[in-house]
Amino acid sequence: MTDKSPPLSNNLGFAALGLDKRLLEVLTSLGYEEPTPIQKEAIPILLSGRDLVGQAATGTGKTAAFALPLIQRLAESKVQKILPRALILLPTRELAMQVAEAVHRYGRELNIRVLPIYGGQAYEPQIRSLQRGVDVVVATPGRALDHLRRGTMKLTGITTVVLDEADEMLDLGFLEDIEEILKATPSERQVMLFSATMAPRIAAIAKRHLNDPVRINIEREKVAAGASPRVRQTAYIVPRAHKLEALGRLLDLEDPTSAIIFCRTRTEVDELTEVLRAHSYRAESLHGGMNQSQRERVIKRLKAGQADLVVATDVAARGLDIDHLSHVINFDVPSAPEAYVHRIGRVGRAGREGVALTLAQPREHRLLSNIERITKQKINISKLPSYADVAARKLEQTKQDVQESLSATDLDRYRPLVESLANDNDIFQVALAALRLLHISNETQGRKGGASAAPSPEPERPRQQQERPRGGYGERSQGHGERSRNNPGY
Ligand code: AMP
Repeated sequence: MTDKSPPLSNNLGFAALGLDKRLLEVLTSLGYEEPTPIQKEAIPILLSGRDLVGQAATGTGKTAAFALPLIQRLAESKVQKILPRALILLPTRELAMQVAEAVHRYGRELNIRVLPIYGGQAYEPQIRSLQRGVDVVVATPGRALDHLRRGTMKLTGITTVVLDEADEMLDLGFLEDIEEILKATPSERQVMLFSATMAPRIAAIAKRHLNDPVRINIEREKVAAGASPRVRQTAYIVPRAHKLEALGRLLDLEDPTSAIIFCRTRTEVDELTEVLRAHSYRAESLHGGMNQSQRERVIKRLKAGQADLVVATDVAARGLDIDHLSHVINFDVPSAPEAYVHRIGRVGRAGREGVALTLAQPREHRLLSNIERITKQKINISKLPSYADVAARKLEQTKQDVQESLSATDLDRYRPLVESLANDNDIFQVALAALRLLHISNETQGRKGGASAAPSPEPERPRQQQERPRGGYGERSQGHGERSRNNPGY
């Protein structure tokens, strides 16, 4: 194939679900390559106007599953009104902000006006926005009910209600508030209910307020027996904002021969590759937006040992078969257990030991348990290594280097040096000073990529990074030279 060959995916998966062209364009710009299982199932049903009960945890892509059809149906009715037409109820203020942002992002080409309302915020700005007119209100039940009772928010124009994380809303004691709010909406509205669990009380709400709903449960997804390879699997619970730093520490500690790092979108892939390169890792992007020959080039570089890290989406890495891959790192928990199994299947091949590390956000804990349940394999939840752990590991590596060097055949070459230094100094002090130098050199030059390693097979890429000083994550180096394994600068 030539460079003109088309990219792997052009959101054909989303187009097949019946989504509007403008939404498809937004999804492409966000770097989404294919719908997640819940999106595949829910979007056509919701576009048809049916009610829906969906069992899905955070991290499965359920926000887009309900937001995309909701936005499209609002846009189809064309008329912009003052009164809100869609109401999304969810348990917490953080989730309200997050979902409002997502609706805004997905609906920006269709001029969808969205307003988050939650407790702890002044009423006045919320009231002013409601008076100006909004299409979608994203609210916690308590504050929504306050507005309803004060007459500052009318729900008579509502055509769609979403109950997101219904189980959590009930746990927080919002049942009566939800009932009262639902009663204030027109009876012919569409209702979508999402919950991580389907306890009887959730079923009872569905029975009372939903009209002949379609039920979908992606948690029961089947993974073929024996499909899960034997791999050391560890997850770290890390807030989104700390993920980059966490990745740096893990790379430092694990020192992978070569690794594939999975992200959800092609935008995230490109961004992470850039950041890793800026920290002197030899990283390459691999995603469905690249044509066949670009992807082949990346795979060739990885196989030839010219790249250590490949940052990839699920779509692009499907079927990838690289022998010496030692680690799979999930920068995000995949949206379905099946995708997790595909990902970790990239290592641990042919009886070799593989390692799969997953960075999960606190809210995605449940997604990990689903994966464990379905794959019948344990994922150890571990504490992120501390700087002290990383430092200890580096010292251990220096010790191993010395240990190995003890059997070198040319040791005598250095005898005159030691003898001369020992004349004026304690020999133990001399050993300390020599180790210090070796350790610093390891840290700044990298064990495998440094001066003692074989020359890079990549003449067009100068190894200008070898004297890179220790630095924080924000510090950028000047190019994409050989990475300093022991000093990624995170
Ligand atoms: P949610 O389960 O709705 O909280 O979504 C989890 C994350 O997945 C969010 O960061 C979304 O932006 C992202 N996401 C949702 N759908 C897709 C998709 N089809 N492809 C890639 N990322 C997605």
